[in-house]
Amino acid sequence: MLKVIIIGGGVMGAATACFLARDHGAAVTVIERDPSYARASSSLSLSSIRQQFSQPVNMALSRWSLGFLRRVAEELTVADDMPAIALVEPGYLYLATGQGASTLREVNAMQRAEGVDVALLSPAELAARFPWLAVEDLALGSLGLSGEGWFDGPALHRAFRRKARACGVAFVEAEATGFETAGDRVTAVRCADGSSVGGDAFVIAAGAWSAPLGSALDVELPIHAKKRDVFVLETPASLPGCPLVIDPSGFWFRTEGALVLAGGPPRGDDADEAPLHDIDHGLFDELLWPTLAARVPQLEALRVRSAWAGYYEMNAFDHNGLAGRLPGYANAFTACGFSGHGMQQSPAVGHSMARLIAGLEAPLIEALAPQRLLDGRPLLEANVI
Ligand SMILES: Cc1cc2nc3c(=O)[nH]c(=O)nc-3n(C[C@H](O)[C@H](O)[C@H](O)COP(=O)(O)OP(=O)(O)OC[C@H]3O[C@@H](n4cnc5c(N)ncnc54)[C@H](O)[C@@H]3O)c2cc1C
Repeated sequence: MLKVIIIGGGVMGAATACFLARDHGAAVTVIERDPSYARASSSLSLSSIRQQFSQPVNMALSRWSLGFLRRVAEELTVADDMPAIALVEPGYLYLATGQGASTLREVNAMQRAEGVDVALLSPAELAARFPWLAVEDLALGSLGLSGEGWFDGPALHRAFRRKARACGVAFVEAEATGFETAGDRVTAVRCADGSSVGGDAFVIAAGAWSAPLGSALDVELPIHAKKRDVFVLETPASLPGCPLVIDPSGFWFRTEGALVLAGGPPRGDDADEAPLHDIDHGLFDELLWPTLAARVPQLEALRVRSAWAGYYEMNAFDHNGLAGRLPGYANAFTACGFSGHGMQQSPAVGHSMARLIAGLEAPLIEALAPQRLLDGRPLLEANVI
């Protein structure tokens, strides 16, 4: 029986473990240093899903994952415990002024050629569809008509863990610090408590903290922990049919029940692993709120109810996931660096990683192979939120 050791029990590690055990009968151990997952990106995610990417591989991964999310109850039920992830599909709406309109048009044409159900809307069409939106300065909008929305990401993460356990996966609390190797093979993971765990295949799925583990195998993984703030807003505004709106400024907002969630690119130096409690309230007061109120006049009236922050596991090379075999190793793999779109892609990536490790073809993730780092071939994703 194939014995697989996965470092990191976030949604990528848990999904990979689940598919390996469920579909390929592998004996899987997940090494996780913090079983509370308090700082894991998977616990702090906005958990939205879109098809509007600039790279076909991302469209394909999100499409596959969407199908899985729609039938998650069938896929991940354990006995009579049926996961509920509250998937809703109101779409994403990318807005452009005159300056960004030609790029939006080009990307939209490419998306439609890939089968994405997306439409370009003029300012008049935007105003008719979303009467609460200020459109005077806009030239164009790109709206996902189906297959885009949001869900309960932590619930999906829990469901993968629960199903994985039910299929025999062992979750062990330990911090991986290095590896034992023999030629081009990894033979064991070394842990901070002095233990070592041997196996046939090894996966680095340590999210924003994957780089030191890559270094331990002399593979430079350009992954950085970049804090992103999310503001939770109470407002009497009524925004029927509100999609996840991406303003030309880069700020975004969406509804969550009666609340509005909003955020945007950080100010300042965007240092690695900035403290999570250090929410930039000035960003909200000085930039985000005025921008929101200009785009949706009803949002003049709001109160910040709370805020949270989490780390994007940012791949500085090209803002896309790394998924596949580590260069130079026969039995070491990674799934990391999804740069803010990993929650939605975890079903497809976990499924494909499991196939690859089991010795099968995994065409969906071929373009994400880490070999591109060595080849100097970035797969630049233009639509990073
Ligand atoms: C604010 C925010 C909004 C987001 N919005 C979206 C969104 O709308 N849509 C979307 O698809 N994605 C979104 N994301 C991104 C998504 O959440 C991540 O891509 C995804 O959760 C990454 O999962 P992961 O398993 O790779 O990492 P993590 O969830 O961080 O898991 C990694 C795990 O590895 C463990 N670990 C690390 N080092 C070690 C070690 N040495 N030994 C043992 N264990 C270790 C950590 O404790 C952690 O539990 C968002 C993220 C944030 C922070």
